Formats: sequence, C-alpha cells, structure tokens
Amino acid sequence: MLHGLALPLECKPFSVGFRAEHLQTEIDKSLYHGAAGHPALPKGEYQLSQHVSGGRCVYTFCMCPGGTVCAAASEAGGVVTNGMSLHARDGRNANAAVVVSVDGSDFDNDPAKAVAFQRRLEQAAYRAGGGNYLAPAETVGSFLAGRGALELGAVQPTYPRGVTPCDLGSLLPDDLSGALREGLTAFGRKLAAYRAPDAVLTGLETRTSSPVRLLRDKENLQCTGLAGLYPCGEGAGYAGGIMTAAVDGVRCAAELMKNWGPMAD
Ligand SMILES: Cc1cc2nc3c(=O)[nH]c(=O)nc-3n(C[C@H](O)[C@H](O)[C@H](O)COP(=O)(O)OP(=O)(O)OC[C@H]3O[C@@H](n4cnc5c(N)ncnc54)[C@H](O)[C@@H]3O)c2cc1C
Repeated sequence: MLHGLALPLECKPFSVGFRAEHLQTEIDKSLYHGAAGHPALPKGEYQLSQHVSGGRCVYTFCMCPGGTVCAAASEAGGVVTNGMSLHARDGRNANAAVVVSVDGSDFDNDPAKAVAFQRRLEQAAYRAGGGNYLAPAETVGSFLAGRGALELGAVQPTYPRGVTPCDLGSLLPDDLSGALREGLTAFGRKLAAYRAPDAVLTGLETRTSSPVRLLRDKENLQCTGLAGLYPCGEGAGYAGGIMTAAVDGVRCAAELMKNWGPMAD
C-alpha cells in the first residue's frame, strides 16, 4: 500500500529456505563429543555459514536448542515457518533456519517484485502442505537426492499444524535449491549432526527479515517522502530481531518526542 502511495521503498537483502530439525542429543554429541550429556553443560547451540556458488551465502539463523518449529504465517493462504525454545530448552529436537541470501539484484531492485517473490513462496508452501496451514516437509537425505520424500527416522517434526511430504526443492527457484543443497552438504563437514539423512526440513522460511526498507532521514528519522511518518522496526527494514527492533523503537520514540512530546516547545 505504501509503495502504491509512492512512498520511497528500496530492496534490502533477506533470505529464504526452511527449518532444519535434529535430535538435540546429536547436536550435543557433535559439539561436546565425549562430554555430551554432562549435567554442567548447556544445551548445544551452533551457527553455521557457507559461501556457495553464484556468490550467495547459506547460513543457519535463529537456532533454537530443545525447541519447536512454529507456524508464523501473517497472511491467509500462506505458510511460513519460524522457531522458538521455551526457557527449559528441554524439547527433543534442536531446530534452526537454513537459508540462502537474496537481494535487490534478484528482483531488478524493484521492492514490489521482492514482496511478490516472498508471497509466492509462502503460497506455494501452503499449496504443497495441502491446505489448513499444514507445512511441506522433507528429510535431508531425500532433499539432497531430490526424491521429494519424508523418510522419517529418529527425528519427529514438531511443526504444530502437521506436515505433508513434499519435494521442497521444487518450491524454490533452482539456483536457490541448489545453493541450499550445497550449503547443507558443507554443514555436514562442519557439524556431524548435519550428516543425518533423517533430519527434517520444514518450509518455507521466508521472514528472516523484511525484503524492503522504507527510506528515512538519517538525522530526524522521518520518512524522506512524508514528514511526520517514522518508519521503525523490522517491517520498515530497520531491525532484524528483538533487540535491534527495541533499540530502533527507542531511537524513533526519542526523535518523535522532540517534535510531539510534552517537552517539545
Ligand atoms: C516465533 C518467533 C520467534 C522469534 N524468536 C526471536 C528470537 O529468539 N530472537 C530475536 O531477536 N527475534 C526473534 N523473533 C523476531 C522478533 O520477534 C522480531 O524481530 C521483532 O518482534 C520485531 O519487532 P517490531 O517491533 O519491529 O515488530 P513486531 O513485534 O511485529 O510489532 C509490530 C506490531 O504492529 C502491530 N500492527 C501490525 N499492523 C498493524 C496495524 N495495521 N495497525 C495497528 N497495529 C498493527 C502488530 O500487531 C504488532 O504488535 C522471533 C519471531 C517469531 C515470530
């Protein structure tokens, strides 16, 4: 809507992919080796990244020890995955987003095309899930071989609405699926748990951060196309998580109060 009103939007980098789930015990073994399971050790956490062909980067994001995969769609007819851990971090599975970067060059630097791409993926995931907000899922061994099967073993998917077997690679452009296969293979060399063929991938993860940014003045933080509007936080393209959104909110509130607060003269 803001784009339609000719407010100044630009593309910004974001990433797409899926959630990978492993047994937390296997992640712990990969990280702690013989000491895995020792009560003094916290649940194992990891962060992986790999430069792949085509100048892209595949990386893990929002790793949730002992957590669950969440349903995070914000539009009817779309499926989006996310993840979270409860404080105890005592779930059976560890999960993390495994995503590949995209940027303005993928969309002719057109913000409308970037948003349309994100929406297209979410709707494709909804259709592949078979409706009712079930999510498409595939085991890693199958994804790497392009079999389109959910060959469940030790890892049971935690996505709360249920999952539907799917060829996840077919939901993404070929170069992005190829990049994710290359990234997952490289992760297997870095962290043994990532070699498990029965790890579960559930998709699609499309909301790592906003695909667009609403431009604002660097000093007064007001939109360059509309005085009095303070683009702020994640949706406007100025944050990528709880802390950065909170800090940006405080900065914008302080600027807004200079003009409109009770202390303004
Ligand atoms: C399952 C899940 C797990 C996450 N885990 C983490 C984590 O561990 N660490 C981390 O850093 N980040 C995490 N995030 C991301 C984090 O929640 C966001 O980055 C952060 O909340 C963004 O803050 P925000 O204030 O910019 O936007 P939001 O928190 O989305 O706030 C936007 C607000 O605007 C309201 N709103 C929207 N449209 C309208 C309208 N038209 N009129 C009035 N109000 C409206 C919404 O209701 C909402 O309250 C997670 C997200 C999810 C979904």
